[in-house]
Amino acid sequence: MRNRTTSRPFTGVEAYRITRFLSEGIGQRVAESDADRAAALFIADLFRGAGLTVSTQEFPLPSGGASCNVFAYRGPIMPESYIVVGAHYDSVAGTGGANDNASGVGVLLETAISLAGVALPVPIVYVAFGAEEGPHAGSKHFVAELSGVSSVIGMVNLDAVGVADGMEIGCYGEVDPWLAAHCQETAESLGFHLTDTHFGGKSDYASFADAGIPVACFARTDQPTAHTPDDNMSLISQQGMAEIGTILVNALVSLDPGMWMTK
Ligand SMILES: [Zn+2]
Repeated sequence: MRNRTTSRPFTGVEAYRITRFLSEGIGQRVAESDADRAAALFIADLFRGAGLTVSTQEFPLPSGGASCNVFAYRGPIMPESYIVVGAHYDSVAGTGGANDNASGVGVLLETAISLAGVALPVPIVYVAFGAEEGPHAGSKHFVAELSGVSSVIGMVNLDAVGVADGMEIGCYGEVDPWLAAHCQETAESLGFHLTDTHFGGKSDYASFADAGIPVACFARTDQPTAHTPDDNMSLISQQGMAEIGTILVNALVSLDPGMWMTK
């Protein structure tokens, strides 16, 4: 595939379609259930369709049983140094988890599709994490399996990004906030308003930040239905997902090693 210099426009069409399939077609995705495994297979297929190499990583659940992370990258082997863009695909019991977090997976996958064939300043590894709900078991396992944490330059997390209001970018812990700041600057340059937040550690970004890896977390504040049966497609905004996806794609293509090499 010839490299293109610009990404496809991020319309939110794919993100919305994927969010609907995960939340309504598959439904609740509790770790280790058949639906959880079906979601992982669906995600792997879409990564392959975007021309990426797919790996799965099984891990044990604290409550017994197992789930898996699905991750994808260009070329035959995992890059040595890369940015992680991640979203969890599991949901709590009793809900299809449209916003939390089929929406994050939708934006993750449309990002991979938008950037297919685009020349990137730094390799990206896309990760759909299993078993975030509860103790963040999937992302903790991913970080624990890294041969050296220095190989992950930074991690962008997408969790509950499907509604229309209250767009936020957040950092966590004591890590260098350069990646969140870069996403914020990108948003401003595109005319979007992102509220700066310091999050409390309730998603997969915490596993990376706790290992000293810089993080940036996209979220939407307006989540009245989180972890309830009402977390369904009636809340989901294609336009809202397109806004976050547009910021993310532009932030990824404008990364510059000077942002982290001089630290
Ligand atoms: Zn979540």
